Amino acid sequence: PGLTHGPAAIDRPTVSFELFPPRTPEATATLWRTVEALARVRPDFMSVTYGASGSTRATTRELVRRLLAETHVLPIAHLTCVGATRRDLVTVIEEFLDEGVRTFLALRGDPPTGAAEWRPHPGGLTRASELVELIREVEHARCGSSASGALRGAAHKLSIAVAAFPTGHPGPESPEERRARDLQSLVAKQAAGADFAITQVFFDARTYLDLVRDARALGVSIPILAGVFPTTDPARLLRLEQMTGVTVPADLLGRLLATDDEDERHRIGTRASVDLANAVLDGGAPGLHVYTFNRHRAALALVEGAGLAEASVAGPSRPLGPPPPIPSV
Ligand code: FAD
Repeated sequence: PGLTHGPAAIDRPTVSFELFPPRTPEATATLWRTVEALARVRPDFMSVTYGASGSTRATTRELVRRLLAETHVLPIAHLTCVGATRRDLVTVIEEFLDEGVRTFLALRGDPPTGAAEWRPHPGGLTRASELVELIREVEHARCGSSASGALRGAAHKLSIAVAAFPTGHPGPESPEERRARDLQSLVAKQAAGADFAITQVFFDARTYLDLVRDARALGVSIPILAGVFPTTDPARLLRLEQMTGVTVPADLLGRLLATDDEDERHRIGTRASVDLANAVLDGGAPGLHVYTFNRHRAALALVEGAGLAEASVAGPSRPLGPPPPIPSV
């Protein structure tokens, strides 16, 4: 059911939301109100971020565990290579599998704060594609290589998502060079066993559609979900720009900053994100992945405005309760 084998298994655009693990009891309460509100549109999954250097390892796991135990929502656990040896990563993957997690978003991760460039941890991994391979290895080892193990493995196959970058990673090279490198990286992630990709935020539909066109030309066939941020809060937009290096359009920012009225900002921002979402959906995007910043109002307005709340309601996310554990042989 649902996204067990990635968005390819679903014949309508998927809807999903990104959450981050809360740091305080107040933030936890807000987050659960958000989860309840978002769960009403029966999203295909909710993904849970993983802090730089694995700093949120326990809280990411706890949020994923609660989503599995207390909601119908399929959780996706983000995982990065930062600050971890290969052995550490195997342990984290096994911990998630023991919780019942069957879908991962495999990332390299950003350099720790203050570090200019990314360096692999001694004994660690260098690229997201290696993490995809490692998750597949752990999965394979758990399912065993006997014929009966392979059969059971197929029934419980893990689903692995990866990141894609419509405007390329920030970096010293030209935008064209960065884009070309990121496309090669996506090819490598698919070859390593990725089932689908989720994009970084973007504000121009053309950049997403060009990424998909160029990826297809290089043989990338996995679904590429469009990562969309509901652009109603200028302060959050600026923070997002800092975090991702993706430039926010000056005219949108100007219109949002021109008013202090929250409802007016909500209206302006929702219009802009719904237009963006409709443009990529019209261009064939297989789904929308909404960056929520743990808030539901703008995220729901975007999904409803794009006509996907109704579509999503028609399809169950997953049966109630945790999925069965992967059998070990
Ligand atoms: P990779 O695909 O390994 O790429 C990293 C760099 O190496 C890129 O510049 C790429 O072009 C280059 N590269 C890769 N392969 C090759 C190759 N074969 N040859 C030459 N160059 C290559 N960060 C977090 O810390 N926690 C999160 O939870 C998190 N969630 C995210 C969710 C999404 C949807 C996205 C889009 C990003 C997220 N990030 C998160 C940020 C992400 O970790 C960073 O953007 C990171 O810099 C790149 O990770 P990646 O998985 O794309 O790495």
